[in-house]
Amino acid sequence: MDTTWMAQGKCRQLAPATFFPSDGVGVEVARRICAECPVKGPCLEYALCNRIEHGVWGGASERERRRISRGRRLAAQAARLKPSSRAATTPR
Ligand code: SF4
Repeated sequence: MDTTWMAQGKCRQLAPATFFPSDGVGVEVARRICAECPVKGPCLEYALCNRIEHGVWGGASERERRRISRGRRLAAQAARLKPSSRAATTPR
């Protein structure tokens, strides 16, 4: 997985502990920094793909990433179960 985006992260100039907060206030501080980061998208995808459980990545807390992952799993399941549009229009 490409990690060249990491060199552009705003967190490079800050203490790592900032992104591993112990309370909601700390999460909000990290999220505000991430909101202005030019590599927010790749950072979030990296954390999701690697199932990183701790810290704020791409502006998302652990809980938010679990919610995103769950939503993606459910969407993928629904897409697999959905009859294809071709099958739905094929005459019997
Ligand atoms: S989105 Fe946040 S955690 Fe990710 S690289 Fe940017 S500042 Fe760092």
